[in-house]
Amino acid sequence: MTQHRTTAEWQALSREHLLAPFSDYKQLGAKGARIVTRADGVYLWDSEGHKILDAMAGLWCVNVGYGRRELADAAHRQMLELPYYNLFFQTAHPPAIELANAIAEIAPEGMSHVFFTGSGSEANDTVLRLVRHYWAIKGQPSKKVIIGRINGYHGSTVAGASLGGMQAMHEQGDLPIPGIEHIAQPYWFGEGGALDPQAFGEWAANELEKKILEVGEENVAAFIAEPIQGAGGVIIPPESYWPRVRQILAKYAILFVVDEVICGFGRTGEWFGSQYYGLEPDLMPIAKGLTSGYIPMGGVIVRDEVAQTLAEGGEFYHGYTYSGHPVAAAVALENIRILREEKIVERVKQETAPYLQRRWQELADHPLVGEARGLGMLGALELVKDKQTRARFEGQGVGMRCREHCFGNGLIMRAVGDTMIVSPPLVITPAQIDDMLLLVRKCLDATAAEVL
Ligand code: PLP
Repeated sequence: MTQHRTTAEWQALSREHLLAPFSDYKQLGAKGARIVTRADGVYLWDSEGHKILDAMAGLWCVNVGYGRRELADAAHRQMLELPYYNLFFQTAHPPAIELANAIAEIAPEGMSHVFFTGSGSEANDTVLRLVRHYWAIKGQPSKKVIIGRINGYHGSTVAGASLGGMQAMHEQGDLPIPGIEHIAQPYWFGEGGALDPQAFGEWAANELEKKILEVGEENVAAFIAEPIQGAGGVIIPPESYWPRVRQILAKYAILFVVDEVICGFGRTGEWFGSQYYGLEPDLMPIAKGLTSGYIPMGGVIVRDEVAQTLAEGGEFYHGYTYSGHPVAAAVALENIRILREEKIVERVKQETAPYLQRRWQELADHPLVGEARGLGMLGALELVKDKQTRARFEGQGVGMRCREHCFGNGLIMRAVGDTMIVSPPLVITPAQIDDMLLLVRKCLDATAAEVL
């Protein structure tokens, strides 16, 4: 238990000692952090006792909702039995083995191997090292370049931030590292110009082939992409995009890495976004929904052919102290058991996602909303000055204003520029979706009253 303090005391202590991730330190200094103290179901409570509907499931991760005693019990039992051991040097333990087996059961056909990490970023560091190692074993060590996408997000470590295409991250500290290339994103609303969505989707996919030819197939190791860009602003590619990417990848010997850190574990209504879109990845980084965020854990699900090649290569000099951590593995196993036994993924597909999407579309009539899009348990609203021309507000921080109204009204929505996004816990009920929609509309109205 943490000690009880007043909000002001926590804020002061936090200001003095805590360097928080992705936080504007100048702003934090002036305003003080929001202190979240407890959670249950789809709700959080802050240190002032306000109840907040968490429409972001933490950071896209609390798939089974907060307050699951079973997960706490699983951690407790495992801590007493074997709190730590590692998987290095030909050792293993039951939780990691059982978890790899459970993941193989839900993963796409032919992807029955898992390398465990502590996070999604570490999973993508593993991807970078693994794909280069793979091609070296195959006798093609020149195949080193990885193609990612502008505005993609693959984490915050040096490799993760380099694979991602976030300009602001690249500007701090000379990223990306060499050997990483980025192509355009399939963001029709923001960048489609005069093209219709399908033509734009094909254009964006063709950028991959252009890049492969420019770099030379003999130098390209892999293409990495999120099925739906999350942190970039819930960017759902036009329907033409993935089929065309698949056609291109079929022509070249390049590994396909589908980053499932957000889409994995049910968010699209399938276990993995790859299954939703019919992709056939070679590697799938995972994290977040793997443990519903209750404890840190990530991994890379590996196609059997790739695992076979790795086996031929002898030792892979790679791993983390916490790879397959027994307590994290026990929690992940229990989390997967809950997702399966409560048929949460099926419920998302058949009931909750169709309901959320139908209700989400109602927001398209709001004067501030240029587009209301969504898929599965993901939603985005593009806030615009002119619905017809898709023209945005310039320099008014409309997204941040809207986000402030959300906090003020007991709702967490995230702002990516002027795109408002949601990714609620998968267990949210239709009645709670109704509550969420009421709050969203209220916050849009409050924002519109200031800027329109
Ligand atoms: N990949 C994707 C698609 C993500 O959205 C994230 C985090 O948001 C990551 C990787 C990085 O995961 P982590 O924050 O666990 O390192």
